[in-house]
Amino acid sequence: MASRHTVLMRLVASAYSIAQKAGMIVRRVIAEGDLGIVEKTCATDLQTKADRLVQMSICSSLARKFPKLTIIGEEDLPSEEVDQELIEDGQWEEILKQPCPSQYSNIKEEDLVVWVDPLDGTKEYTEGLLDNVTVLIGIAYEGKAIAGIINQPYYNYQNNEKEKLREHRNEAKAGPDAVLGRTIWGVLGLGAFGFQLREVPVGKHIITTTRSHSNKLVTDCVTAMNPDDVLRVGGAGNKIIQLIEGKASAYVFASPGCKKWDTCAPEVILHAVGGKLTDIHGNALQYNKE
Ligand code: AMP
Ligand code: MG
Ligand code: MG
Repeated sequence: MASRHTVLMRLVASAYSIAQKAGMIVRRVIAEGDLGIVEKTCATDLQTKADRLVQMSICSSLARKFPKLTIIGEEDLPSEEVDQELIEDGQWEEILKQPCPSQYSNIKEEDLVVWVDPLDGTKEYTEGLLDNVTVLIGIAYEGKAIAGIINQPYYNYQNNEKEKLREHRNEAKAGPDAVLGRTIWGVLGLGAFGFQLREVPVGKHIITTTRSHSNKLVTDCVTAMNPDDVLRVGGAGNKIIQLIEGKASAYVFASPGCKKWDTCAPEVILHAVGGKLTDIHGNALQYNKE
């Protein structure tokens, strides 16, 4: 019997549950203590056991349920049997209660491309800056990013650097009851959920940019924009979170390095709340499978 829900909403609801499982894997690898770090192209381009396990988990879980999808993951992994324990079969029922935007109601599984960054902010993950880390699942149709899920496994985690900053600014701390981790999701035409939308104080211009992939062009570009403050943090997903939560006004990175799995999901969340993500010439990014 055909489901009364559209393919897109079933995919988003499943990807939400899969992203939550991914967050648990990210925390488990840290708890077990062996990160299994491998250098990919250089010392700032790393892969850990969490990047590998999470990609296997996300891609296999999606492919089992939606066999006609095109799924593109960041990590180059040998094809091998995936442990059943990594498979997530659930779907988040709250998402299925939402209406599918009418322009997407007839989309077929084979028309969708899913861009997966199993762990964004790997460098920071290896350095214990755990709240910089996100899991990104972006969904594209006809080359456009239309739905996205961001899991932040260590939301509410207090690292020392942040603790000191908070004390300095006299901000409230997350209490002992704070739940670790959260999932933000969005669909164009429907909205973005799982966070509190905030604006930077009026008149302040704060730029967020890379912490671990900087070069002269990146810093010159930021300086030329004459910001009031610069927030150097890891992860493309994390930097978009800084924008939607009013910690930064713009994310500027004038360098190659970010890939489509870094931007697909975050772009949807940003666009759903009225922001804009473009290449350096102001053009929209294309997310076709080619
Ligand atoms: P960052 O802002 O440095 O955390 O980078 C955001 C995303 O782009 C992360 O997934 C990085 O791995 C990726 N990235 C940015 N610049 C580079 C680079 N020079 N080499 C490899 N990956 C990069
Ligand atoms: Mg990334
Ligand atoms: Mg990654």
